[in-house]
Amino acid sequence: MITADALFEKLSHVTLGGTICRYSKDTCATLAPQINAINALKAQKNAIILAHSYVAPEIVYGVADHVGDSFELSKIAQSTSSDIIIFAAVKFMAETAKVLNPTKRVFIPSQINGCSLADSITVEGVQILRHTYPDHAFICYINTSAAVKAHCDCTVTSSNVYTIVEKYPNDRIYFLPDRLMGQNIANHLQSIGSTKIFDYYTGTCYVHEEYDPDMIAYIRSKHPQAAIVAHPECQPAIVDQATFVGSTSQMIQYVKTTTHDQYVLLTECGLTARLQAEEPQKQFIGSCTMCRYMKSNTLDHIQQCLESPHPSSEIHLDDATIQGANQSLAAMFRYAS
Ligand code: SF4
Repeated sequence: MITADALFEKLSHVTLGGTICRYSKDTCATLAPQINAINALKAQKNAIILAHSYVAPEIVYGVADHVGDSFELSKIAQSTSSDIIIFAAVKFMAETAKVLNPTKRVFIPSQINGCSLADSITVEGVQILRHTYPDHAFICYINTSAAVKAHCDCTVTSSNVYTIVEKYPNDRIYFLPDRLMGQNIANHLQSIGSTKIFDYYTGTCYVHEEYDPDMIAYIRSKHPQAAIVAHPECQPAIVDQATFVGSTSQMIQYVKTTTHDQYVLLTECGLTARLQAEEPQKQFIGSCTMCRYMKSNTLDHIQQCLESPHPSSEIHLDDATIQGANQSLAAMFRYAS
């Protein structure tokens, strides 16, 4: 049972995003009863709630059993004994949980079905590319539908992409769908003297694409002591001037284990909100960008998934998709270790 005061103590440090991510005692008093109702329902139904760091803080600190990035949550989804998985994130992540747990019921509370990156490539698109690049191994970012994963050789996440591309036993690789991450990988391969032929697709994440190298240079000139911490979905010109580059879990680890005066986090606002709550003594500056897909997960929708889920909230995949995507994910677990 969480009290309004305990919730306020956790969330009072979250100040980003104007009124969207600001919590008063009154707000927490309103949220606490619903959080307690959801947690009671969760126990009653033997459900688990997995939440990406980008979703709203009241989900992260109120009802989530586990919070993390795609890779961390995939591993938890693989080992849970709960009958029901509620995945507060975006659809491709919930599909990954279903692929890893085909006998369990998986629900997605998000009401805006999508992700600009995952939506940029279809199965037909992969088939055309396979025809164009017949000797390439196809490596897909986890931000793809289960059907697209099923047509690729190996999946990667932002935590393991460099390791897997380096290790993958093929000298021609096609990476999809993120163009900016593809450019960053190509630069990385060049920097280590790799001779692999590396091609990549044209999709982008609209949240990370928005960061502008000139803006970052300006922030750096005003705050020379600040650590610029960037996600690899940002442009190479930003990655080049960053103090640290990594997945959201690696960004969290970096902030928690370093002592810079200030931090500029170049990723979705939820990560800064999370670190403001968990590292209140540290200062975060600059702007962040909100993902409309992630932020469409709400406590109301989570409660509905537990009480009387709308049929469109449940993830259904056919056997061929589950089998194909499973092979692609199994390759990731194999090469990432
Ligand atoms: S932040 Fe970008 S990649 Fe992540 S869910 Fe939103 S649109 Fe997709």
